[in-house]
Amino acid sequence: MRKQTTDVMIGLGLERGDRDVLQQLAGPGLELLHWPFSKIPAIESLEREEPFLLWLPYSAWARLDKRRRSEVAGLAGTEKALILGPELGNAELREILALGWPTVQGSPLDRTAASRVLDRALEQRNLYADILTMTEDILLERELLERKNAHLDFLNRFLGHAAQSRCPADILDLAREDLGMILPTTLVHGIFWPDAMGMGARDAGDAELFLSRGLGPGARVRWTEALLRAAGRVTGTVVTRHRITQLQGPDEPHADLSPEDGRVVFLPVSGGSEPLGCVALVSRTDFSFARDRVDLLRSALNHLGLALHNAFLFRALKRRADTDGLTGLYNRAHFDQRLCEELDRHRRLTGDLTIMMMDLDHFKTINDTRGHLVGDQVLREVGRVILDTVRSTDYAARYGGEEFAVLLPHTGSRQGLTLAERLREAVADLRVGTEFGPQSVTASIGLATSTPSLPLEAAALLDRADRALYRAKDAGRNQVRACLWNGGGELPARAFDQGDRLHA
Ligand code: GH3
Ligand code: MG
Ligand code: MG
Repeated sequence: MRKQTTDVMIGLGLERGDRDVLQQLAGPGLELLHWPFSKIPAIESLEREEPFLLWLPYSAWARLDKRRRSEVAGLAGTEKALILGPELGNAELREILALGWPTVQGSPLDRTAASRVLDRALEQRNLYADILTMTEDILLERELLERKNAHLDFLNRFLGHAAQSRCPADILDLAREDLGMILPTTLVHGIFWPDAMGMGARDAGDAELFLSRGLGPGARVRWTEALLRAAGRVTGTVVTRHRITQLQGPDEPHADLSPEDGRVVFLPVSGGSEPLGCVALVSRTDFSFARDRVDLLRSALNHLGLALHNAFLFRALKRRADTDGLTGLYNRAHFDQRLCEELDRHRRLTGDLTIMMMDLDHFKTINDTRGHLVGDQVLREVGRVILDTVRSTDYAARYGGEEFAVLLPHTGSRQGLTLAERLREAVADLRVGTEFGPQSVTASIGLATSTPSLPLEAAALLDRADRALYRAKDAGRNQVRACLWNGGGELPARAFDQGDRLHA
């Protein structure tokens, strides 16, 4: 390719005199290349010279065959000028007009007119060059803008999703989906120690691991180990205990994807100034980061850290608001809310739902004889016994002073009675070590069950359990009573008799 500093015009089949004039018009930076008619080269050779102007006598044009004519006419970016001879017929003039090219009288070539054509062609060439540069600039700018736009789009989505949820697992699941816009991420796992935040502690204590639901047992163990190691390596934090929370994970199968198989990057996540944990971005394929991607990812992880920090804080506050300070069980407000939710679910699904109301017997006496502190100690221990005795699917709360409630989903009255009896015995067996020696306590329990054939409202269910509880109290305490009435409306007296019989 020719150097850009020299402009080239070409002549094809020029008369000697015309060629001389054009040669004189060319000067420094402008060159005339000429081929006699018999030596006109293939069109590709002409194109290679990148001429901005082509001089052609009409006599030569008239002698070109159809194919060559169309090739010459089609030379892109080249202005064509016709040099006219003295004798031209009407037909020829019409053809020249139809071509629409600039014309100059030749043999000898009219110098002034030729110079005008030349100047115009140069101007046009410069204009084209400017337009081309501008178009290239615009295209480049557009590409950059599109990239920036995609980045903004990603950050916008990422931020929106992170701010939209207050559940750490949901935030991580959404982050995995969104990160897929910039990286081929298959999995996102995480390890966090929200409880150590603000303590300035290097010992994270209890850490929470977030792992995809679909992992096989082997991969799960390896991921747990890898995340615990990464916590120390990436953030210098020692994790002593941990528990695992499941993430939704991707739809595509990944049971076998362990840290050794995929491409994994462990990145620290901070919730402000302190490390909150670290995430593992996992991909089945290799990926590398362009500089702008690194910045983008850093920015996304900053947002992720803040969103997770907020979510953990919210969860801790919510937990505090929902639990009873003395026993650590859920409190009444939360129990009532949970009961309504469970009843909703129960109404939609089949299966019974039972609740248990438990009240400590003669508790006032313990307070009166041993003091409130011992009373508190007993309450705390009873709370622990309840947690140890009920199943993980059951839901226990301190309902009031020395009254406890347990929600037993998917449980009928018979099974409920068995569980209640087991709990009553466990409480009766309890010996609370006090400064006065071992303190024992008994409890009375009332049960009520909602069945799909007679789904009860929360208030009715609580009322029935309460009445069963007072039947147990009336019958001498330290026993269990169930309301086994399966009808609606007012409870008949035999509602509990039936329960007594069943219990006996
Ligand atoms: P009953 O067998 O009929 O249930 O007798 P009771 O003495 O247990 O019943 P009562 O309702 O008269 O007494 C409940 C007592 O529980 C009264 C209250 O001082 C005590 N109490 C309630 N909340 C707490 C608490 O948080 N700590 C302590 N130490 N005592 C509490
Ligand atoms: Mg009591
Ligand atoms: Mg009471």
